[in-house]
Amino acid sequence: MGHSPDSVIVVGGGIAGLATALRLAPLPVTLVVMAPLGAEAATGWAQGGIAAAIGAGDDAEFHARDTLAAGAGLSEADVARNVAGAAGEAIDWLVGLGTPFDRAPDGSLALGLEAAHSRRRIVHAAGDGTGRVVLETLVAAARACPSLRVIEGQRAITLLKDATGRVAGIAVQDREGRLGTLSGRAVVLATGGLGGLYGSTTNPLGATGSGLALAARAGAVLRDMEFVQFHPTAIAVGADPMPLATEALRGEGAKLFNERGERFMSEVPGQELAPRDVVARAIFREIAAGRRVVLDARMDGVEERFRGVVALCRANGLDPLRAPIPVRPAAHYHMGGIRVDGAGRASVPGLWACGEVASTGLHGANRLASNSLLEALAYAQWIAADIGGEDARPGRPDGAVMPVRPSPARAEIRALMDAKVGVVREAGLLDAAVARLGMLAASGEDDLALVAWLVADAARRREESRGGHFRADHPLPAETARHGQTTLDERFGNAAGIRQVA
Ligand SMILES: Cc1cc2nc3c(=O)[nH]c(=O)nc-3n(C[C@H](O)[C@H](O)[C@H](O)COP(=O)(O)OP(=O)(O)OC[C@H]3O[C@@H](n4cnc5c(N)ncnc54)[C@H](O)[C@@H]3O)c2cc1C
Repeated sequence: MGHSPDSVIVVGGGIAGLATALRLAPLPVTLVVMAPLGAEAATGWAQGGIAAAIGAGDDAEFHARDTLAAGAGLSEADVARNVAGAAGEAIDWLVGLGTPFDRAPDGSLALGLEAAHSRRRIVHAAGDGTGRVVLETLVAAARACPSLRVIEGQRAITLLKDATGRVAGIAVQDREGRLGTLSGRAVVLATGGLGGLYGSTTNPLGATGSGLALAARAGAVLRDMEFVQFHPTAIAVGADPMPLATEALRGEGAKLFNERGERFMSEVPGQELAPRDVVARAIFREIAAGRRVVLDARMDGVEERFRGVVALCRANGLDPLRAPIPVRPAAHYHMGGIRVDGAGRASVPGLWACGEVASTGLHGANRLASNSLLEALAYAQWIAADIGGEDARPGRPDGAVMPVRPSPARAEIRALMDAKVGVVREAGLLDAAVARLGMLAASGEDDLALVAWLVADAARRREESRGGHFRADHPLPAETARHGQTTLDERFGNAAGIRQVA
């Protein structure tokens, strides 16, 4: 099937892009992905699973309450309820596509427990291999879908608009630098997160927020860009990106120690299962004081339940059955993103966003574990219904297309984000980050610098501590919880020479 100008363009081949593309069938869809399909997507690396309030004694209302508690005042109640309520159908849909989820002896879906969930509700596959299994299932379904054309090895570099200002296509660039354009009736960005902007990250290195740069340059409203979740227990073996020791290990009893053998979480409410940001800061403080931190996972059943983690450790020369795992916090998930409404629509006509790149109002200031795969599945369906119900006839996309070069400052940006916009932030560090990243971004086309600057600028302006954002100089939450919104024009203006789409 060739690309037709009536197609919907979906950018990204993780759970968000693939689920949206499949839900849009039989509408023609062109899915554009910069890597080979199935590779370099965070989705494939998900270990814990998908949160779904489907067990006996559980309810979408309980799930929504847990989500709101984690979100620290910025999760929206109606969004949390709608997403929690969509879980049953989403899991059935994945089962219908052939996803081999783990099952209990009676044949029902096996449900795991994770921190801050009040019930067992984590649907998983192949133990801790959920992401890989789900991604393989979705890729197979996409390859078999007659209305879906997949273009691999092409990076979306610009959103193109028609004369009315509606997004009507994208410009793409292949690995050799060749440019092309695609027009479409709608564009859905599903480009994932931005952990790759940090030197210490669990994300694929290509996860540098490229969809955020595309949307920002097209004038879309971005929200809560400062809220980055740092996973407390990335495995510190010098690998880049860092392998993850899933939270479920602590759920099953693994304990944290510093190099003096002290269990430094023992006095903290919730201990090792305190919220992620609390555990991440406690580990950060130990490391800042010069003490290494390890996770002792020498427990019965580890090899069977956590095959993936054990394999990751062994591939890096560690045997978690014999010795504790060295760990450190790492950038893991971006709660902020392109502001969307209940149908996944961004503030610019013709543009939708799904998955980690979007800010739906679900996660607020902190994401509840295993809610992101669910969010992508729920919004994929709502976006497909919204686009399918719209009689859109955009005009010809217009605008000059310039090639994009890899950021020359990538290593500097990653080190700077770790040091100045990391787990513990304060005005002096953030001022320096904003100034330097602003200079790098103002030099023109550097998407990495632009997105990093947007995060640092938002972190500088949020003078409180809330969820994943901790300010040593403002350690308490403000009385009222407020979202932070921004557009590129409002914050940077054109004077700085930042490329924008008219
Ligand atoms: C190690 C790890 C474990 C996790 N565990 C869990 C878990 O257990 N449960 C849970 O709910 N969440 C988990 N998460 C978070 C979750 O995996 C992600 O939030 C989710 O998979 C994001 O899906 P996505 O489709 O939005 O992005 P991704 O899966 O990252 O896919 C993004 C896609 O966009 C493509 N792309 C990016 N930019 C462009 C561009 N400009 N042009 C073309 N293509 C582009 C990429 O190549 C990729 O195909 C985990 C994350 C990590 C890193």
